[in-house]
This record gives sequence, C-alpha cells and structure tokens, in this order.
Amino acid sequence: MAIQVKTFEQLKVMRRAGLLVGQTLELLKSSIKVGMRTDALDAIAAASIKRGGGTSNFKGYHGFPATICVSINDQIVHGIPSDRVIEDGDIVSIDCGAIIEGWHGDAAFSVGAGKVDPADQKLMDVCEESMWRGIAAGSVGAKLTDISHAIEDYITSQGKYGILQEYGGHGIGTEMHQEPHVLNFGKRGMGPELTPGFVLAIEPMITRGTHKTKVLSDDWTVVSIDKSRGAHFENSYCLLSDGKPFVLTALDGGKERLGALGIEVSELLQ
Ligand code: MG
Ligand code: MG
Repeated sequence: MAIQVKTFEQLKVMRRAGLLVGQTLELLKSSIKVGMRTDALDAIAAASIKRGGGTSNFKGYHGFPATICVSINDQIVHGIPSDRVIEDGDIVSIDCGAIIEGWHGDAAFSVGAGKVDPADQKLMDVCEESMWRGIAAGSVGAKLTDISHAIEDYITSQGKYGILQEYGGHGIGTEMHQEPHVLNFGKRGMGPELTPGFVLAIEPMITRGTHKTKVLSDDWTVVSIDKSRGAHFENSYCLLSDGKPFVLTALDGGKERLGALGIEVSELLQ
C-alpha cells in the first residue's frame, strides 16, 4: 500500500482526533492511583472519548476487548485492562487511540505509580526523550530511517536498554496502522523522503534488559522474556506545508519538547 499523504483539511480533522487522544491520556495520567484496578482506567478512557465525540479504534481491533492497552512492569505493550490492581512502584504504560470523522489518533505514555525506583524513572525518561528525538529527526526532507537512527542513538547513549525489534511506529490516517513501518533502530538515510502531508506515529518501546519478548496466552500482552521492566511512549505527528512538524496528539503540538531540541513547531494547525 502506498503512503497516504494528507491534505491540510484532513490534517485539521486528524488534529481533533489527536487532541482527543492527548486529553484522554492526560486524564488517565492524573487518574492513576495505587490500589486502582486497570479496568477502571479503561472506563475513564471510554467515557472521555465518547464525551469528545470520538469512537475507539482499539476496541474490536483484531478482536481487542478494550478502549486502552494497560501494560504493567514487564508487560511492555498491548496489555488488556482487567481486575489487576496497580501496586506501589509499578510502571504503568497506557496506549490509547480515537477516531473522529474517520481519522485516527494514537498515543501512549508510561508513568510510575507511588514510589518509583530511580532506575525505572530513568527508563521512562530515556524512552520519552527518544520519542521526541525521533520526531525532531523526522523533518521535511529527511529520510524515514533518520527517525529510527535518532531514537536508537539516544537510547544507546543513555545506558544498556533493550529496544524492541518486532514492534515499531507506523503511518496513521484513515486506518490506525498504515505504511510505512517505523523501526526504532537502524542506519539513517534509508526509506522514503518525508514530505508535507506525512503523518507518523512514533513509538519507542524499551526495557531495562533484553529486547526479546513473547506474547502471553491472552494473545495480546507483550512481555520481556527476562521479566525486565519496560516503557512505551508514543505520539502521532504530521508535517505541514510550511515545512514544520506538529504533534497531533500533544496538547501543545509538541512546542515545548521539540522547542527544547531546536525544532520550531508549525502554527498552521493552532
Ligand atoms: Mg498506540
Ligand atoms: Mg501506534
């Protein structure tokens, strides 16, 4: 399938979907408490998406039973909300998406509950910053794998972390998962050249140990095989006709975090 290049009008709708995802994730982040069941978070997300006039793209996706993925500790991605209770010191990773008028948003974060081990906090900080570095490298005129390389380069500069290899970022638009696949590692300078109208979900997934994973018997939950803890961050961003990026799923469009990396965010969608 060819890469779906979006028009400005389509990007405006994608911003609405992305903003709803971003707002829902902020609400979830502030709702997470030790002692809470993960399916309570799912209910909060479902209500938020409904209130915002969207629908869930996760629910029913290849049979996925919930509105969000909640993955705890050695679960890295695709965990199913359940009666599991969040414990002190857990790493809670939440992935969420929404559709507005047929256009998709997709984003994720990890956060510590209660008293967080500093090494876990660093894992999350490294993962998040690598996502921003990836987006910053994915400017107009760059090649796709410039993103991949920037993510890997930052992570490896920060210590020994496992970078998941079977999972990565992706194009997003009228489907949640579109071409191209975006690896979180590799050489720069390969793949398609990025142009205005590209929309990519950038989502590094790393562990404090191995990059090797397996899927649990629920057919969804991805865990590290050495039980090391993982983190996952994701934002969907676009490139605009002024040659600048805009992060569709960030409340501020990525202004603060990309600005810190010397990247100016487009004002066309604000
Ligand atoms: Mg996602
Ligand atoms: Mg995604």
